[in-house]
Amino acid sequence: MKRKLMQILMISCLKATELIEKKSMMPLSWIEQIKLKIHLRLCDPCKHYAQQSNAIDEWMKADNKDLLTPSTDTTHLKEKIIRSIPPQE
Ligand SMILES: [Zn+2]
Repeated sequence: MKRKLMQILMISCLKATELIEKKSMMPLSWIEQIKLKIHLRLCDPCKHYAQQSNAIDEWMKADNKDLLTPSTDTTHLKEKIIRSIPPQE
């Protein structure tokens, strides 16, 4: 019983990243949330992927329209990108 439950709850890294991206677009079902939460507790690479994905989503939601217009002066662009990168632990 316990082993079968763990087989149901354990997901691959591929499935975890799929759920991370799905979560950014729509709410996950309760079972998907549990599966993802368990996976992220056990898998550091996917935990970092989720943090980076969240950072990119937040950056995209922020007002960054000026970065999307073409410009030959990239100094401002470089500085803004560097400032938007979250510090590493
Ligand atoms: Zn993983």
